[in-house]
Amino acid sequence: MDSDPAAQLLLDEIGRRIGDPRVVAAMEEVPRPLFVPEPLRPDAWANKPLAIGEEQTISQPALVARMCELLELKGHETVLDVGTGSGYHAAVLSRLAARVISIERRPALSQRAGEALTAAGINNVVLVIGDGSCGYPLNAPFTAINVAAATPPGAEESLARQLADGGRMVLPTAAKVQRLVRLRRNGNRLIREELEEVAFVPLVAGQDAFSPAPLPSPGR
Ligand code: SAH
Repeated sequence: MDSDPAAQLLLDEIGRRIGDPRVVAAMEEVPRPLFVPEPLRPDAWANKPLAIGEEQTISQPALVARMCELLELKGHETVLDVGTGSGYHAAVLSRLAARVISIERRPALSQRAGEALTAAGINNVVLVIGDGSCGYPLNAPFTAINVAAATPPGAEESLARQLADGGRMVLPTAAKVQRLVRLRRNGNRLIREELEEVAFVPLVAGQDAFSPAPLPSPGR
């Protein structure tokens, strides 16, 4: 665990709030400072979201823990993570499951997340650049899906189609007052629980308009 006293305080608080000991252990294992831009590292163990560039934020650690707990992971799963951002949430999920496929529409964030994951010694996260609002059909269905951006009903519906029988999906709604939602698939039925209020950046359909253009072909 990080020797920063703030890390101890935050992890103790998470330990009191979260009932699943595997989630608490995963939070202890992943060094949040590695996923935060250098100038903000002194604040990395505060329970708050922080700017990671491109107008996006790394989520509050207690909320990451809560969302992980809601997914009820046992360790054998492949998790789909929509909205890689800093890669921190994916890193925590990677300690709780066999593999994480994490999608991000902004290439620059995905690249930085890859560097942070490597620095943390994590090698079971596959990063994909693209529009995660359609999920990842190549590997569907998933036992667990985590969405870290406010999800409109249409995207919720298409992502739920990629949920395996018995699978769980956790997401924030895109309503004026956002709420955390857990969906559980039971055959053709979806059981939907609306939980506490949260605040996330919106899920934006389509890939980043500012993606680098393909390199010109050589030898002309
Ligand atoms: N999980 C992140 C925080 C997520 S912030 C972390 O631990 O740091 C939400 C992220 O979702 C942003 O990086 C944003 O660019 C991304 N995003 C928004 N819409 C998306 C979409 N349709 N597909 C993939 N990523 C998306």
